[in-house]
Amino acid sequence: MANSRKSKLTKRTGAAKSVLRKAKPARPAHRPQARSKRQVFAFEAGRADGNAGMKALLGGKGANLAEMASLGMPVPPGFTISTEVCTYFDTHGKRYPEGVEAEVKRQLGRIEKNLGRRFGDPSNPLLVSVRSGARASMPGMMDTILNLGLNDKTVEGLIAQSGNPRFAYDCYRRFVQMYGDIVLGLKPESKTEIDPFEAIIERKKHERGVRLDNELSADDLRELVAEFKAAIRERRGVHFPEDPYKQLWGAIGAVFGSWMNPRAIAYRKMNNIPESWGTAVNVQAMVFGNRGNDSGTGVAFTRDPATGENIFYGEFLMNAQGEDVVAGIRTPLPIAELERENPKIYGQLVKIRRTLEKHYREMMDIEFTIEQGRLYMLQCRVGKRTGAAAIRIAVDMAKERLIKPAEGLLRVEPEQLNQLLRPTFVTAEKEQAVRDKRLLARGLNAGPGAATGRIAFHAEDAEAAAARGERVILVRIETSPEDIRGMAAAQGILTARGGMTSHAALVARQMGKVCVAGCDALLIDYAAGQMRVNGADAALKDGDSISIDGTTGEVFLGEIDTEPSEVVRVLVDRTLDPQQAPNYQLYDQLMKWADRERRLKVRANADQADQCANAIAFGAEGVGLCRTEHMFFGEGKIGPMREMILAEGVEERCAALAKLLPLQRQDFEGIFRVMGGRPVTIRMIDPPLHEFVPHEAAEQEALALQMGISADRVRERVEALHEFNPMLGFRGCRLGIIFPEITEMQARAIFEAAANVVKSGKAAEPEVMIPLVGHVKELQLQADIVRRVAAEVIKDKRVRLKYSVGTMIEVPRGALTADAIAQVAEFFSFGTNDLTQTTLGVSRDDAGRFLVPYVRDFEIYAKDPFESIDQEGVGELMRVAVEKGRAARPQLKIGICGEHGGDPQSVMFCDRLGLNYVSCSPFRLPIARLAAAHAALGAGGDSKD
Ligand code: PEP
Ligand code: MG
Repeated sequence: MANSRKSKLTKRTGAAKSVLRKAKPARPAHRPQARSKRQVFAFEAGRADGNAGMKALLGGKGANLAEMASLGMPVPPGFTISTEVCTYFDTHGKRYPEGVEAEVKRQLGRIEKNLGRRFGDPSNPLLVSVRSGARASMPGMMDTILNLGLNDKTVEGLIAQSGNPRFAYDCYRRFVQMYGDIVLGLKPESKTEIDPFEAIIERKKHERGVRLDNELSADDLRELVAEFKAAIRERRGVHFPEDPYKQLWGAIGAVFGSWMNPRAIAYRKMNNIPESWGTAVNVQAMVFGNRGNDSGTGVAFTRDPATGENIFYGEFLMNAQGEDVVAGIRTPLPIAELERENPKIYGQLVKIRRTLEKHYREMMDIEFTIEQGRLYMLQCRVGKRTGAAAIRIAVDMAKERLIKPAEGLLRVEPEQLNQLLRPTFVTAEKEQAVRDKRLLARGLNAGPGAATGRIAFHAEDAEAAAARGERVILVRIETSPEDIRGMAAAQGILTARGGMTSHAALVARQMGKVCVAGCDALLIDYAAGQMRVNGADAALKDGDSISIDGTTGEVFLGEIDTEPSEVVRVLVDRTLDPQQAPNYQLYDQLMKWADRERRLKVRANADQADQCANAIAFGAEGVGLCRTEHMFFGEGKIGPMREMILAEGVEERCAALAKLLPLQRQDFEGIFRVMGGRPVTIRMIDPPLHEFVPHEAAEQEALALQMGISADRVRERVEALHEFNPMLGFRGCRLGIIFPEITEMQARAIFEAAANVVKSGKAAEPEVMIPLVGHVKELQLQADIVRRVAAEVIKDKRVRLKYSVGTMIEVPRGALTADAIAQVAEFFSFGTNDLTQTTLGVSRDDAGRFLVPYVRDFEIYAKDPFESIDQEGVGELMRVAVEKGRAARPQLKIGICGEHGGDPQSVMFCDRLGLNYVSCSPFRLPIARLAAAHAALGAGGDSKD
């Protein structure tokens, strides 16, 4: 098997290559890494030792500075000390490899020559910045020092250069402050102590009777420098170094050292960044945006990072440094206003924007400074963006021929499609709710989207409220099949217990409902009609308003306005003309490209005609799982179903089944008609029967009346169904083996429905699926019944019917004996919900309590295994089943219908295993289609990715 797996992988790599082969050869990210012994890399406008492909060695900032310099952009000259030096420094007692010190000196000499200034020169000093820059962006986690090279002598030179003593002393005091903190360690010693430097500044402002820093005079600032130095001496017992070279090595050591500071370590852990990467250090000539009104600073994106619109987007501030923008002391202006302020620089920036996008073929984010009317580029990197912007940029860039459609596909994370599919809270309203402390609790993000409404604790109440036109959130400790109609009526579902494959979660996803599950901070008291949040006194009552965010798992008090999705309005509600829906058009284009690339087919888990219609709208090529038990809750069906379950003896049971037959047949007909000849996998009844019977006295009495027996009798029969471990009890194929008449009725309903459809001139293709098979004999017994009934119906109705009989692989024995099972089964479908439950020995309904800390705190699993396939465990059983199944029956059709069928990493794993299709809830189909395209294009998807 190792071989077949490998061959699949090789194929995958082949596909990836073909995409890359089509890509432009000059693509910077794919340029080979330099293997030189060089430790220090120079850059200046027009030339550089490095390039954008060398992020591992130069860090993101250094690599992109080099690239911009090579492109001839106005980058202040500088050099990058490599990440390898950082690793050496960390592992050799904070010493540098041989030759680094001499090389740094040589590079400084080059910068001096380039600018005509000298480091430490009292008349015309060169000042530099020393910045960190790792391979992955770690915003604010490591240290930076600016204005280095200033001392009591060189500050005079800066005054001479600038003609502005206040500016020069402001630079000096900022430098001493930063250096004193980062290199010399003068920091607050307790949580309550304010920053020692800020305390000195405050004292000075108080003495001078001013409120703002910029009201301090040059003399005040000069005094601050002296006072800062005195504080450093007193509290740290060291002198502030006047020698610029000493300053430089202190700063380089501190920046390398900041790779191991607790903040950076914590960030790396959270983001899976290996410690071995290290940071680079960038030393670069200073340019000043605060040198007067012809200077300034700004940040910009080559496209709008929120919407993806192809406009130059950013802001700037004249006579300011970057930190003034960040500190929010003054409000920056939109970049378009720079055109009025300085049309020459604006024109230059617009040109740079074009050049960068053409060169990187990506949306970039840039930082720039204007110094006395001259533009300098200080940074560029691939810009962060929202999901909606990612989609728009990918589609637009492919249409502009900047990238190939296949690359566009790879630039959108499948989950980002949710932003186009789901209603969301109006951002400002949600932010306000957080500020108002209305965030009550957090649960599992089981069904994405945003919903708001009044609390209903019972399904009937939800239905009644919805019938009155009210918006409701159904709040339950957990849901059961009985709640289905209430769930359908509600805007969203909130449960206190249950995991990602609990009943609430999977039914909500199938219906396209918002759902927060397993929110164990909720203490729900049905009898009192109220709930409390753990730790809070106030209770929420039936009818109070709440809002839930199924994308994040958050639960809020009160209403928050939502915005509907364009895609759903076009495809599902059909209330919007596609021509009027630009976001829908983006979605549609992306899906067309995805469908062109993918190998896996996609099907939907759907058990009602309306869900099937949604599924087709979202691109389903069949139904992968119709859970027949969900159909018993429709109008008029639960009664006979309960009679069937509580029947004593075959006769009573058959009488109840006879009532169910026409009802099921009608439902199947509806599904076949909507699916228009696409394959429909129908699963025989599966869950433990006790889920269907009433447990409350009043309902038992009503049923007794209906069945013509006493309420005591009903209660006794319900009690007789009690099991200690129902999920491992009388369920799945065991039901149909002990009560073959159930299988017979269901098979008859399926084939008669298909026959009726075929006779009306339409196509229908049933695939009958037997659940929870562990032994081939189980399947054989059930398949015999199904095939016999099929033959009878075909004969009676005189039709030709194409059908097949297969099984779910959802217990380990089924996977391990797949070769024997494939002798009988014409197809397999992995039921990874149960396969995960039975392989891990973890109850899918009770896992919420420990799986969250298992994943979040102990990192036992990288992701919730009920959400993303545990590839090493469950995945290994799947691999064995595929291998054995296809060895016995080479053309065996294999799919997956567990909830994992809509999880991108699991979809990619299924592609690698060589499955034929994945099946998921209708609203996740677009995500599955994109993930399948990613898989075909060679994207990752390993559980460790
Ligand atoms: C499964 O077990 O993965 C499955 C699809 O069946 P159910 O969730 O209905 O048990
Ligand atoms: Mg199952």
